[in-house]
Amino acid sequence: MSLEDVFAAIDDDELISLTRELVRIPSVVRPGDPTATEAAVAERVRAWLAKEGFTVDVQEVAPGRPNVLGWIGEKGEGRTLLLEGHTDVVTEGDAAEWSRGPFSADVVDGKIYGRGSADMKSGLAAAMVAAAAIKRSGAALRGRLIVGALVDEEADMIGARHLATTAIGRELDAAIICEPEQNELCLEQRGVVWARVSVRGRMAHGAMPEAGVNPISALAELIRQSRVLERQLRALCRRSRYLRPPTVTPTILHAPAHGVPQSNVIPSVAEATLDIRLTPGPDEQAIQDAIDAACRTVAARFPGATIEWKPVNGFRLATEVDRNESLVQAMVKGTRQATGRAPRFGGVPGSTDGTILRTTLGIPIVTCGPGNRFIPHQVNEHVKVRELLEAARIYVASALNFLQ
Ligand SMILES: [Zn+2]
Repeated sequence: MSLEDVFAAIDDDELISLTRELVRIPSVVRPGDPTATEAAVAERVRAWLAKEGFTVDVQEVAPGRPNVLGWIGEKGEGRTLLLEGHTDVVTEGDAAEWSRGPFSADVVDGKIYGRGSADMKSGLAAAMVAAAAIKRSGAALRGRLIVGALVDEEADMIGARHLATTAIGRELDAAIICEPEQNELCLEQRGVVWARVSVRGRMAHGAMPEAGVNPISALAELIRQSRVLERQLRALCRRSRYLRPPTVTPTILHAPAHGVPQSNVIPSVAEATLDIRLTPGPDEQAIQDAIDAACRTVAARFPGATIEWKPVNGFRLATEVDRNESLVQAMVKGTRQATGRAPRFGGVPGSTDGTILRTTLGIPIVTCGPGNRFIPHQVNEHVKVRELLEAARIYVASALNFLQ
């Protein structure tokens, strides 16, 4: 059985239509609306994998929010590789800003348009079709190849966190994260900490500010101080060829944090969230110390104010994987076999489900999938058909290299 025989089992038209079908099933998660979850698209993935003869396991992570796992082969003496995708997409925003319907999946000039076309129903479809091609071809597999369609990547990553606690998750030896990275091999991912800072002052009349302690003024100083924090984190973290340096970006401001806003009342509490992005290097404690120090600096300038912070969703540190890992070797060779060219290496600007798998399971991950790295979450999101078809071939060749 040659690799060309397995490539021949990839049906390009089927891959294109499966991608479009998944895009047409909206899966924006709207908290409070039980009908707006990943359920419908997860069911489509389950049915497709079952029809192809995969062993399928549906794991309810939260009500109406299932992870779908389908696999071929048995672990036996071999290894287990996960091709990972997520089923949720971010909001389409104002549909009027789109030049085509956000869930139309229209194909124009060799590109499929729609929310989730790049991030990441194309990557998920490529993983499904790649694994199915291996199965249909009858190629020998030493180990198990799993396609995982997980929930909630765009929010708290409860799907990946859940998978890491299951028996099948703990058996994983490596994972390819099929996120849109224009088919580059990304061995590094930036980390993120969302620091929710709460400043407590003392409530007072706006006409007599000297009678209170204004938490808003302290918060303004904290925002100014975030530039200093950014420089400190840049000094603390390693420089990376593939990742932008650390950034500290205020994203949420709340004042008053509680109660009714009134123009003549200095509130007692104000809150801000800093979106902190990291490159590899420092551990949790070092990051925590740097944020603590910034808060102390501000508190010292505002006697009577107390400043506390906590990470909204824990620490998701930057990840990196060594180029000598057998998964990386399998993908370098696989990219050559699939595309006829040497792979390009890259870095992931944000964190992904791979961050959770890497940090909780300790397994090597490589992020690689179709779609421009910068297109996710924008209007007129799209994926090039050429990249989609190429991704499926990269997954086939890489999986066979890793599992044979
Ligand atoms: Zn994504």
